[in-house]
Parts: sequence; structure tokens; C-alpha cells
Amino acid sequence: MSVDRYDGLPFIARFRWYTGKITERFYRNFAEKKILAARCEKCGYTVVPPRAVCPKCSSRLSEEHLVELNGKGVVLSYTVVRKKLDGKGNYVEMEKPVIIAAIKLDGADSQIFSKLGEVWEKDVRIGLEVVPVWAEKREGKPSDLLYFKPR
Ligand SMILES: [Zn+2]
Repeated sequence: MSVDRYDGLPFIARFRWYTGKITERFYRNFAEKKILAARCEKCGYTVVPPRAVCPKCSSRLSEEHLVELNGKGVVLSYTVVRKKLDGKGNYVEMEKPVIIAAIKLDGADSQIFSKLGEVWEKDVRIGLEVVPVWAEKREGKPSDLLYFKPR
């Protein structure tokens, strides 16, 4: 699997890179509305998105360390994004602010970053319990996970 990225920068940057086996499995499982993490057998740390190396003890992690999370999580912190780059190096107001949150998923020790939706800025708070919202038609890609919403 490769990922294209060329959005949100003050220039057009089109490139592809190989995500690696673990990350590929992570995104492929989005098609089944599943969120996978990697659980280190040496220290027990569970990282999401899964990585090839344990961030706590540096042990190698592979596909056999993948575990499925239930998708439920809690907002640890968040920020409200009101401006974006216009492609010419200038910041412009967004029509609608976007809330980006650090979310601790049940069963994980790390956090995942995602947009929040179906919640007003005034109602977002640390500790808000959230669940993922998936695209109706999923293809096993990052874009399958639309955002998290309050549960
Ligand atoms: Zn470890």
C-alpha cells in the first residue's frame, strides 16, 4: 500500500511511500471498521497506530503482535483549527473550524490523532468519550475513518 499526500501545504507535493506491512494491515482493516494496535510481548505496551518498533522498549513488533481494539476512546487533549494554507503560503480563515483531538483508545497505551465531528466547539472537553465514524463505502484506506464523535 502507498499513500498519496499533497494537501494542506503551501506547495504541491506529490509523493508516494511504502507504509510497511504493519501500517498496511492497519489501514486495510479500516474496510472492516476495525482499528488494530500492536501489543509488545516484552513490555506489554500497546501502540496505535501500530509500529514496527515498540516505542517503550524498542523491541521489534510484527503482524503477529496486532490486536483489535473496540474503537471506543477518550479525548486527552484537543485543538481547534481555524486557518489553513491557501496553496500560496498564506493563511486563510476556514469556513468551518476543525477540531483535532488526541484520543486514547480502550486497550491502547498510546494516543491516536483524529478529527472530531458531530460536536460543537463549546461542547468538546477533555474526557469526552468518543467512537469512530466510518465512511459508508470503505476501501481499506486512511480516508475510511472520517472522524470520531461523542458516544
Ligand atoms: Zn515493548
